[in-house]
Amino acid sequence: MSEYILDSGIQFLPGVGPKRAEMLGKELGITTIKDLIYTFPFRYVDRSRFYAVSEITDCNAYVQMRGTVRNKTISGTGSKMRLVVLFSDGTGNIELVFFKGIKWTDQKINVGSEYIVFGKPSQFNDRINFVHPEIEPVSSAAAGTRMPMTGVYSSTEKLTSYGITNKVFVGMQQKALSMVSGRIAETLPDWFLRGKHLMPLSAALFNIHFPADLQSLEKARERLKYEELFYLQLSLVKQKYIKMREAQGILLPRIGDAFNYTYSHLPFPLTGAQKRVLKEIRADMTGGKQMNRLLQGDVGSGKTLVAILTALQAVDNGYQARIMAPTEVLANQHYNGVFKFIDPGKVKVALLTGNTKTKERREILAGLADGTVDIVFGTHALLEDRVQFANLAVAVIDEQHRFGVDQRSKLWSKSEIAPHILVMTATPIPRTLAMTLYGDLDVSVIDELPPGRKPIVTTHVGENQRKKVYDFMRREIDAGRQVFVVYPLIKESEKMDYENLEQGYLNITEEFKPPQYITAVVHGKQTPENKAFDMDLFARGKAHILVATSVIEVGVDVPNASVMVIESAERFGLSQLHQLRGRVGRGAEKSYCILMTSYKLSAESRERLDLMCRTNDGLELAEADLKMRGPGDFEGTRQSGMSIDLHIANLTKDSPMLEDARRTAQDILMDDPTLSSPRNALLAKNLKEIRNEIKDYSKIS
Ligand code: ADP
Ligand code: MG
Repeated sequence: MSEYILDSGIQFLPGVGPKRAEMLGKELGITTIKDLIYTFPFRYVDRSRFYAVSEITDCNAYVQMRGTVRNKTISGTGSKMRLVVLFSDGTGNIELVFFKGIKWTDQKINVGSEYIVFGKPSQFNDRINFVHPEIEPVSSAAAGTRMPMTGVYSSTEKLTSYGITNKVFVGMQQKALSMVSGRIAETLPDWFLRGKHLMPLSAALFNIHFPADLQSLEKARERLKYEELFYLQLSLVKQKYIKMREAQGILLPRIGDAFNYTYSHLPFPLTGAQKRVLKEIRADMTGGKQMNRLLQGDVGSGKTLVAILTALQAVDNGYQARIMAPTEVLANQHYNGVFKFIDPGKVKVALLTGNTKTKERREILAGLADGTVDIVFGTHALLEDRVQFANLAVAVIDEQHRFGVDQRSKLWSKSEIAPHILVMTATPIPRTLAMTLYGDLDVSVIDELPPGRKPIVTTHVGENQRKKVYDFMRREIDAGRQVFVVYPLIKESEKMDYENLEQGYLNITEEFKPPQYITAVVHGKQTPENKAFDMDLFARGKAHILVATSVIEVGVDVPNASVMVIESAERFGLSQLHQLRGRVGRGAEKSYCILMTSYKLSAESRERLDLMCRTNDGLELAEADLKMRGPGDFEGTRQSGMSIDLHIANLTKDSPMLEDARRTAQDILMDDPTLSSPRNALLAKNLKEIRNEIKDYSKIS
């Protein structure tokens, strides 16, 4: 029954009632006692120590002092009236100033007596003083049962106006905790707490609100964070193990003509990282279990080739492969690019998108169904029910962050035997986030770019230097290179964005006149034919400039392009900017990325752009992005439909703890994959509850 009390409505807490309960629900989402108790302070006022007057600066937060009142004076009249108290502790003097409740305060304070003063120092006329501090005689303060540290909770204006001040909130916590005291069910087994030196839950909940001292607060936070990270990992690792156990993998042991032809005709040697990843994939495909692998590699690291070599292993064993891209442009590029690598007489490839003509589509569908098409490239269209394979063994998704989890699971639900899954992403995902977002996948990393790539020179320029930028573009074009010019496209401002793009296109064609210069344009409002035509023009080197929306962000490969101009660069996130920049620097030529912005920039935008100019390291940028924007906004987490709404832990700051939690979850599940031993009963029970919570959450959002 102990759970029951935590689940009771907040209105039943003495002093709350229906009105305040409604307010708490609306403003902070608190509807039960449990919600209240799990609303933690975001900082604390430390009353565990006394400050000396001499050490106080106006930088201090709230501080507490102990000393004697030397004198007090009332000056002014009416609204100008004030009481100034001179307070001293032997190390120095400081003024306490009161504008309100002067009479009452004046009566309370006796010159020569000892007091405890608590407040926030401020600077006034080059002097430090305290305005309206709390002041209590030493004797009564010592007798009180006040906690040394008091929590400060986030609040809203509405709540305060309803009388729910921080003091009231603290009181509510006190009541709630005494109400549930002794009735909070522990959520981690005893052996676990002892092994990890963690504080029991009830003590942790008490100490997070009313810490006895700094150390207890630390222990309380550690316990609550660890629990949060641990159950998340336990859930993910368990799903992974279930998949591993249940999903029989198609065996692809043979290396044959298809693979060998490509391997021996490569125009360049594979990088060490590509080789290593191929080995990891090969081990999966010959091991009897279904592969579920995330392939992470910075832009230009050569993931496509890994995908093709993986697909060819299916072909050599008499199976089919499917390589899916998020956009039409990319699918086209994959398809057109593959002929450089394969033997078209031996391996039959096809392209299937939403725009494939009916007759051709019919032929491709028939070829997939009877097994004559070996590798099919395409878009979402490949997920339609009418697409049936004779014997699909490998499914690759490129640029995973464009696909939702739903689509990922759809990849194998309709096949009779699950194909091996390779998910590729160029968005370098910080390890901690990958562990959580893709915790059910194995991860391979291509951490090496093909040799000879020169670092891209990135500069940030203002609108007033547009002329210079055009001159620079002209020099590069005249030297035989090509240029991207990219405009942001955001749903909310779509109409204006298109106008900007159109205007930009006009300006460029005005500046770079045909027929000497050819400018192609690609955006979402074109017919697919026009889009493909212009894209192709640029890809084949027939157009010098490509004006585009961020559709080209993912994957387009034009090695001869050496300049990337990004318009309104401040409107892109770091990861997106890095993706765009990755479109150049693919050939041997020195490449440039020019970030154009207007003059007015927020400090954060400036910081982002500076970082872009400083580093080419995608992982460093992704980590900075994660820090600046938080995982909720991290590219891909939204679209992936998985909400990482952590309560107290932080994926970036608590990464060592996260790794420990993951290892611990792995160890436990290794010994007891179903969590059915009595020793793990509590874990199994809580895991079930947490899963339900996650599910409910996803339904809401
Ligand atoms: P991404 O990982 O961003 O998808 P791509 O697969 O598009 O990268 O590869 C980028 C370019 O590098 C392509 O032109 C590709 O042919 C080339 N490439 C791939 N592997 C190598 C390698 N080992 N050495 C040299 N160039 C390579
Ligand atoms: Mg790619």
